[in-house]
Amino acid sequence: MPLRSVRTRIAPSPTGEDIHIGTLQTALINMAVARKNKGKFIIRIEDTDRVRLVEGAEKKYLQTLKSYNITHDEGPDIGGKYGLYRQSERLELYKKHALELIKKRVAYYCFCSMERLVELREKQIKEKMHTRYDKHCLLHVKDVEERINRNESYVIRLNVVPDKKIVFDDLIRGQITIASNEIDDQVLLKSDGFPTYHLAVVVDDHYMEITHIIRGEEWISSTPKHILLYEAFGWDLPLFAHTPLLRNPDKSKLSKRKNPVWASWYIKEGFLPEVMLNFLALLGWSHPEEKEIFPLDEFIDLFKLEEIKPVGPIFDLVKLKWMNQQYIQNKSDEDLKKLIIDFSPDAKNIPDQTLSKLMPLLKSRMETLVDFAKLTGIFFDKFGEQSFNQEEKDIASSLVNDLSKIKDWKNDTIFNIIKASMVLNKLKMPVFYKIFTGETRGLPLPETLEILGQEKSIKRLKEVLGK
Ligand code: GLU
Repeated sequence: MPLRSVRTRIAPSPTGEDIHIGTLQTALINMAVARKNKGKFIIRIEDTDRVRLVEGAEKKYLQTLKSYNITHDEGPDIGGKYGLYRQSERLELYKKHALELIKKRVAYYCFCSMERLVELREKQIKEKMHTRYDKHCLLHVKDVEERINRNESYVIRLNVVPDKKIVFDDLIRGQITIASNEIDDQVLLKSDGFPTYHLAVVVDDHYMEITHIIRGEEWISSTPKHILLYEAFGWDLPLFAHTPLLRNPDKSKLSKRKNPVWASWYIKEGFLPEVMLNFLALLGWSHPEEKEIFPLDEFIDLFKLEEIKPVGPIFDLVKLKWMNQQYIQNKSDEDLKKLIIDFSPDAKNIPDQTLSKLMPLLKSRMETLVDFAKLTGIFFDKFGEQSFNQEEKDIASSLVNDLSKIKDWKNDTIFNIIKASMVLNKLKMPVFYKIFTGETRGLPLPETLEILGQEKSIKRLKEVLGK
């Protein structure tokens, strides 16, 4: 094969609410392979399944990928040299190729009714046979042209030759062999004129000059069908790599019930896009120096497809949170402030200086950006629990007294007063958190009160007394 410049792609079907977190990982890997080799990364929308099509999905997918800084070089939104990037706009091309296969006798027309196919299937199940099409139309229908002229509905099927071995190299899994006897005579063109995935994906990957097909392992069983098509057209094979399916901590397939699977959920929950990419990079691959935290550029630099392990990596939310916290901790105060303001525009209601002072405190306590609002309620006059018993009110009352006397409002003086009250009343810190914030924990209290100011701290205590 002549040396071609690297072109990779993802080809999502707009049939879901959002980009699946597994697809986000595939996108990351495809983008990394393209960038590493100074190639191109393409997004193609595979919208040929008209029944499962979800209105607005394509737009959402593109938005979500953008929010993770997964950037493409060609796609339905930005175009490119390789024509249209939405399959529904390329129907003529697929039809032409289906007919070419008919001419080559690699494919055939099938007029079977749904009833016959259902009956055949039931019979095969009953007889404990593999369920597959029985080549009835290939073997018995002689008046093909007349039936087409009569406008009879038909599909075009691939004629899979029995007793053949289909062998291909997977960059992650090594050699894979599948017997042609395992493969059904796949429909290539449906009666509505739309291609099936198998025909469209091969035609497009060929014409878009894709060099590496990197996709999830659930597509392995489709690959031999595609190889038969490449062979029938006389086209060079691309390289194949099937990435391992992500798993829940209990090893089951990542599913909505156990882990959120839609990529934008994580952004809404305050995970940083760069953290998610770092986390996904490590699902199946390890850094040569065993590093856990590294930027995207380093991943692109070091990563090799061949190093991905084929066993299902665990998507562990606890680790993701830990990683997010690490990134937050390592941000400069200014950068964290910007991130917070973007995420919770309300933050702007806190005077900028106060907000800046909060950054060092927040860094040590925030796991996600959502925590900002949870930890700073007191600055917005938003409190958690609002009912107080007599003991709590008595403490608040004596704190009003003691805190009012402070001349130099500094955290160590505030701490001494709280500490004295703790000892005197034999109480623990959560009670004091509750009195001031309505929560049982939060940012270091004396420091927070110093930033909040004497007047506001005392005002809060007086409110507690009135409850
Ligand atoms: N349309 C397929 C999907 O929804 C693409 C699979 C492939 O990458 O070949 O994921």
